[in-house]
Amino acid sequence: MSEINKAPRGTNDILPEESYKWQFVEKRLMETAALFGFREIRVPVFEHTEVFTKNVGDTTDVVQKEMYTFNDKGDRSITLRPEFTAGVIRSVIEHSLTSAALPVKVCYCGGCYRYEKPQAGRLREFHQFGAECVGAASPAADAEVISLANSLLASLDIKKISLEINSIGCKSCREKYHAALKEYFSVNKDNLCGTCNERLERNPMRILDCKSPVCSKIAADAPIMLDFLCDECSQHFEGVKGHLDAMGIEYTVNPRIVRGLDYYTRTVFEFVSNNIGAQGTVCGGGRYDGLLEQMGGQPSPALGFAMGVERLLMVMESEQIPAPVPEPCDIYIAPMGEAASVKATALCCLLRNEGFEALTDIVGRGLKAQMRYANKIGALYTVVLGDSELESGKVNLKCMENGSEKEIALDNIVEELYSARISSFAEKLDI
Ligand code: ATP
Ligand code: MG
Repeated sequence: MSEINKAPRGTNDILPEESYKWQFVEKRLMETAALFGFREIRVPVFEHTEVFTKNVGDTTDVVQKEMYTFNDKGDRSITLRPEFTAGVIRSVIEHSLTSAALPVKVCYCGGCYRYEKPQAGRLREFHQFGAECVGAASPAADAEVISLANSLLASLDIKKISLEINSIGCKSCREKYHAALKEYFSVNKDNLCGTCNERLERNPMRILDCKSPVCSKIAADAPIMLDFLCDECSQHFEGVKGHLDAMGIEYTVNPRIVRGLDYYTRTVFEFVSNNIGAQGTVCGGGRYDGLLEQMGGQPSPALGFAMGVERLLMVMESEQIPAPVPEPCDIYIAPMGEAASVKATALCCLLRNEGFEALTDIVGRGLKAQMRYANKIGALYTVVLGDSELESGKVNLKCMENGSEKEIALDNIVEELYSARISSFAEKLDI
């Protein structure tokens, strides 16, 4: 097959046989987030490029290497969102959401775009579910947001996943840390990759997040931020841990977590799985107290996280967690002849208005082929509609599972299907 007839590299079609899992996951996550007071926000798939270059950080991999940026026909530089936070905060500021009740709690789900090397768990179009909480500075807020992420994973029955937390301090305590990092990495300057050499001057902490094996080996013994935290940051971190302990949420402190985006301050965290290969970080997030002011809004503390939906589904697969399979077609009406076909269409319309999935022939098949089709799609009931049924107003309602048939009046078809549905529920519940 020629390349142009295939989905672009790093993208996936989500086919009907998979999409129900996505719908289940997205619905469950939204419902769980609502229990914490988070409501959905929908922002554009693209933003002005500066929303990301200025705020995600121009020394990050995302901005330096991964963005889909182009000029539109009005010659504006536009970028497909590589992540949500910057766009969501742009929207929070634009619509003055912080002037209503604080904290602002929003969640979202949708596609993100990064020009990455595609591999298992790493795509060019991927999907994030995330949440942002604006206007809360206390450690309780960090703990609540982490607990939300924890509950989201639990709501999908995911068990084999661990939480790692760290603090990367604030602007003031980070200065000393940067100096210590510069000193440490300067010794190995010649071995660092080109990008990291540039980072050494401008943002040495980014080197800790470099994916190159040589750089990460050098970074393994680098000084850690926890040793440089100022009193306030240190107290904040202790506070977060205290809240997590009180909630019974298990975690380990991993001083190597720095996160890939520049706007983080203080608490950062990741939920990591060992069962989905090299790309094991399912969820990443943290506090970003400087971002609103940096983006031209009122200074306001904030934090959030995002999880990769593809990686969530991979974890679910690895733990063999099933998503509820969609209900099959309730009834297939098999017409024979033109008059029956017209009647079948009308019946389907009536049944669909009553909430039943009702299908009939729109291909022009003979009776045998229609029944084969009904079987293939797993229809629960079928009726055959021919001239004699039209005349008598009676049809045989056939249960496809056990082959039993019941003569019913066509006028009663809705009631008959309702009672069939109720008895099948009762059977499933064993009452
Ligand atoms: P990684 O270290 O895997 O590159 P990241 O630090 O770039 O992740 P974030 O920007 O924090 O990731 O995004 C949050 C989550 O989104 C990740 O934990 C992951 O689950 C998911 N994610 C990020 N990039 C991709 C991608 N290219 N393909 C699939 N999922 C992704
Ligand atoms: Mg990345």
